[in-house]
Amino acid sequence: MSGKLIIISAPSGSGKSTLINHLVEKGFDFTFSISATSRAPRGKEQNGVEYYFLSLDEFRKAIEENRFLEYEEVYPGCFYGTLKEPIDNALKAGKNVILDIDVKGALNVKRLYPTLATTIFIQPPSVEALRERLIGRQTDSMEMIEKRVAKAAQEIAEANKFDVIIINDKLEQAQQDIVREVKSIIEA
Ligand code: 5GP
Repeated sequence: MSGKLIIISAPSGSGKSTLINHLVEKGFDFTFSISATSRAPRGKEQNGVEYYFLSLDEFRKAIEENRFLEYEEVYPGCFYGTLKEPIDNALKAGKNVILDIDVKGALNVKRLYPTLATTIFIQPPSVEALRERLIGRQTDSMEMIEKRVAKAAQEIAEANKFDVIIINDKLEQAQQDIVREVKSIIEA
């Protein structure tokens, strides 16, 4: 039997990584899709771990060769995309795959795999709460925070296009919700 695709999207600062880590701690057995990107590695990022880091030329060649399930220019000059081959291999091997991509990418993949894919949107309780979390994290300038908040507001406006919405207000509740939803997706 084919595995399932679980596509998780969330504005930055909505607690997505914490919730995905919780699923791993609960013992769910997933293959994580590793995206390709033309951006340079940050900090300790390694090729084939966080991303497959491609040059812009390599990325363009992969587009021409039709190797992407979906791709996007997320920031000007910075491409991100999901490669077809590893996803198809994992699904054929009966593995469940988690994709952590942005809203546009998520909705595109859902169109390609309408029955195998379930889209989950992690929603912060409010744009204001998100801004406070981003300020508290102390990793971005105020200018960058406002850019992220503006993108978040756009993404939240599309949340109703997702199969499942998890509101991450109280972490424990959100953890329970995501475990329940993912269980029902995998067992369906
Ligand atoms: P970052 O550069 O911070 O790792 O990621 C920037 C943005 O690119 C995030 O919003 C992330 O969801 C999105 N992203 C990462 N991989 C993919 C992908 O394969 N496809 C699409 N459409 N977006 C992606």
